[in-house]
Amino acid sequence: MTNFTNSLEFAKQLDSQDSLHSYRSKFYIPQHEGHDMVYFTGNSLGLQPKTTKDYIQQELNDWATYGVEGHFLAKNPWMSYHEILTDKTAKLVGALPSEVVMMNQLTVNLHLLMVSFYRPTKQRYKILCEAKAFPSDQYALQSQVKFHGFSIDDALIEIAPREGEYEVRHEDIYKAIDDNKDSLALIMIGGVNYFSGQVFDMKSIVEAGHKAGAIVGFDLAHGAGNLKLHLHDWNVDFAAWCSYKYLNGGPGCVAGAFVHEQHHRNTDMPLFAGWWGHDKETRFKMDRVFKPIESVERWQLSNAPILSMAAYKASLDMFDEVGMDKLNEKSRELTAYLEFIVGEINKQKNNCLEIITPKVNRGCQISIVAHGQGKALYNKLIENGVIPDWREPNVIRCAPVPMYNSFEDIYRFGEILNQLL
Ligand SMILES: *Cc1c(COP(=O)(O)O)cnc(C)c1O
Repeated sequence: MTNFTNSLEFAKQLDSQDSLHSYRSKFYIPQHEGHDMVYFTGNSLGLQPKTTKDYIQQELNDWATYGVEGHFLAKNPWMSYHEILTDKTAKLVGALPSEVVMMNQLTVNLHLLMVSFYRPTKQRYKILCEAKAFPSDQYALQSQVKFHGFSIDDALIEIAPREGEYEVRHEDIYKAIDDNKDSLALIMIGGVNYFSGQVFDMKSIVEAGHKAGAIVGFDLAHGAGNLKLHLHDWNVDFAAWCSYKYLNGGPGCVAGAFVHEQHHRNTDMPLFAGWWGHDKETRFKMDRVFKPIESVERWQLSNAPILSMAAYKASLDMFDEVGMDKLNEKSRELTAYLEFIVGEINKQKNNCLEIITPKVNRGCQISIVAHGQGKALYNKLIENGVIPDWREPNVIRCAPVPMYNSFEDIYRFGEILNQLL
């Protein structure tokens, strides 16, 4: 790891050595008083690639030119548009092409997948999840449990950090799995905790879960485009993620879903079906009998949202060009530099800042508790051209993302923070 210095000159030198630095100019950076803002919210809504409008324009043009015939005659025929996203998406999350599909929204996908993968019995009905999971995940899990007639308090096992700690200990996860091995139906957690930024050891959790006879699924909202994932090799049963955070697809963009190959032929499992999950050869015969596609595409319900997918494709092409290896490498350096800068400020400010993100198990997010400061500090940061993210009750999340954040961003963040404290 580099020996860091808290100076503009040093930050600029790191930028000049960064092979991805030119990608910053491929994005629109929000402005504040004539300068680039320090945008640390790529974990909430990624910035807009300058190419996005061209990708969408292509589809608008084809719609204008061909009308309904665009399904077949468009440059990227809409009938199979989702298929041109498959290979690159599969690479992004470490999956086989047959295991990933872009469809719907994240919470919708979680529900659709749980319809198939959460099949509780009187004996086996519990779900192991994170305490204080992202609210939408909590509501999804609670409603699934209630839907099947179980009580939330009984059926949901919530794993929390120990008293006075911020990081969930993996030994506590394994113990909870073991303690409930006869009643556990499903493990459903985020690959990255959205609040603390902790990354979980997905491979080992899958192993432990399977050993206990449970299905294991992950919400990768904060994992996709942030971490190197190997969903296939880790034997993850299912996963879902959104594309508007690290993946820069734009607000409400189409989401991703993964179902491991080993489940593809099991067409007996319950499924909420729609015509886009029906065998492609015979889909338009409009037969009464549903003939499921033997891949993750079977979970599709509706024809694809082309404009949203075009926006996703603009960003996906960039991710594919760069690759997660390089992004990951830069991400570690950026995050380490941010940690260093916060540490330097802390020395001058009576250690009022506490980083609650683990030192090792993390991606490119640092969550900071500013003791005695709270929301006022967050508001002042915004007024001064920094966009971090605020999470109740007291956390400022900063995500320097490797695709477009610079080391200079981090230096400037430090300078502004120092002035405000
Ligand atoms: C962002 C996020 C969501 C949002 O769900 P949508 O269905 O896309 O609105 C859900 N869960 C987690 C963990 C998230 O980080």
